[in-house]
Amino acid sequence: MNCLEEQSFALLTNAKRLEPVSLERNRVGLCDKCESDLESLAYHKTESGWLVSARCKKEHLVLMRYDLQWNWLGDQELQISVKELGTSNVSSIEMEKLEAVFTSAEIRDMRACEQGRPFTRQNLYRARAKCEKFEKLFGIRLKL
Ligand SMILES: [Zn+2]
Repeated sequence: MNCLEEQSFALLTNAKRLEPVSLERNRVGLCDKCESDLESLAYHKTESGWLVSARCKKEHLVLMRYDLQWNWLGDQELQISVKELGTSNVSSIEMEKLEAVFTSAEIRDMRACEQGRPFTRQNLYRARAKCEKFEKLFGIRLKL
């Protein structure tokens, strides 16, 4: 899943956070869903090419992939994420985000702890040590 942060226009993709290199608004193609113009929101650079976040006027979002020579490679799904404020319950966070940082055993025990069920203390200690990394990556502070 690809996620564009509402205010910073940073792109969260493959457990990486890519800051935009440009916020230029250009017409970049036609929307697959409604055939109106797509306008770029943000340009992101990776080692292998470019990613362009775009939106049509009916709010359909798409992430367009290009190689380094600007040959179009394909489109991917994109969603906008509203930055969450304050601390968040582990249970309210999407699994894909948690899995980017924590092991399945750590996630299971963070949830168990939150819900007052038995958990392995060792897993929770390990998870706590990773919370800062999670916050840096997703801007979400976990309540643990
Ligand atoms: Zn559209």
